[in-house]
Amino acid sequence: MKIGVLGSGQLGKMLALSAYPLGHQMRFLASSKEDPSSLLGNTFIQNGSQEIIEEFSKNSDVVTYESENTAVSIVKEISQKTMVYPSAKSLFTSQHRGREKSLFDKLNIPCTSYQMVNNLSELKIAVENIGLPAILKTATDGYDGKGQFLIQSDSQLDQAWKSMSGVESILEGFVNFKRELSLVAVRGVDNTHEYYPLVENSHHNGILRLTIAPAQNVSPKLQQQAESYMCSLLDEMDHVGVLTIELFETDNNLVVNEMAPRVHNSGHWTIEGARTSQFENHIRAITETPLGDTSCTYKYSAMINIIGEQGPIDKVLTLKNAHLHLYNKTEREGRKLGHITITANTLDDLNTSLEDLSDFMP
Ligand code: AMP
Repeated sequence: MKIGVLGSGQLGKMLALSAYPLGHQMRFLASSKEDPSSLLGNTFIQNGSQEIIEEFSKNSDVVTYESENTAVSIVKEISQKTMVYPSAKSLFTSQHRGREKSLFDKLNIPCTSYQMVNNLSELKIAVENIGLPAILKTATDGYDGKGQFLIQSDSQLDQAWKSMSGVESILEGFVNFKRELSLVAVRGVDNTHEYYPLVENSHHNGILRLTIAPAQNVSPKLQQQAESYMCSLLDEMDHVGVLTIELFETDNNLVVNEMAPRVHNSGHWTIEGARTSQFENHIRAITETPLGDTSCTYKYSAMINIIGEQGPIDKVLTLKNAHLHLYNKTEREGRKLGHITITANTLDDLNTSLEDLSDFMP
């Protein structure tokens, strides 16, 4: 099939790399010819014109997107000409933190207390209701911890509201979590579901730095609990493709933070660490073909993000259980330039390789 991707970053690139062995061709609606995936298919440069969108749609049998910040209006427009998976409903819900949280409430999925905020006086009321500490976040367009302010005392309210630049925001109760987990799953058009194991994520300055897969000390009950939340979301949105949920594990609960209607950074380990990667499973789902096995090929995998500067990448190539993925991006503070996957069958091997690559850790 001819698969069109709205966007052309590293996620589009990795989708393309898993689509070609299955015989598909790729098209990208890109912002520039220099984007990470633009050399991997026919590239249509997004210039805001109607013609480009029409050309892109005409040249695609099915269209998907790689970011929840994709305009819903474009997805709706393309849906009238060709198939789009996941649907505009998944996109519309997950690009707004308030809509996302009301869906969690509707489905009885635990999430932290929250209140929408449109001005300073509403923020003051929200703080009275929710208490401090709390996190103020922009309702849309936030990623990698951007557009967030941790409020610890009433004296910070002015500063917190100013940092939102007047846009609609959400105040969230601060969750005292033990660790951060995520669950990546995929749903096919025939309502089949496949789940990867829960993974543990470590962030620095709001950016994911390390994923350990599977997360250690996860009871079958915890995995089932996360899968049941995921299942309700997949079915409610009639989602087709990969969906990711980010979770906080507290002393006695599993709380959902947010979801992404797409392949996810915390699922990159699946390229080498699972029988079918998240990218291939997304492609299988959107091309309406059977989903692949999500079980692990190694006992342990880890994913280290390469952030800001490339670092000693030659060292990665000398390790026999490490795999390097570079996204062809120029160095810039806080930018995701690539990732490394480590695979191991013993915890000792995993820890030794993590130490060998400690230069890449903050
Ligand atoms: P987000 O953009 O919502 O994924 O937030 C980025 C990071 O901020 C998360 O990975 C957490 O480490 C932290 N964070 C976000 N929301 C909360 C919260 N309500 N309570 C505690 N930490 C949070």
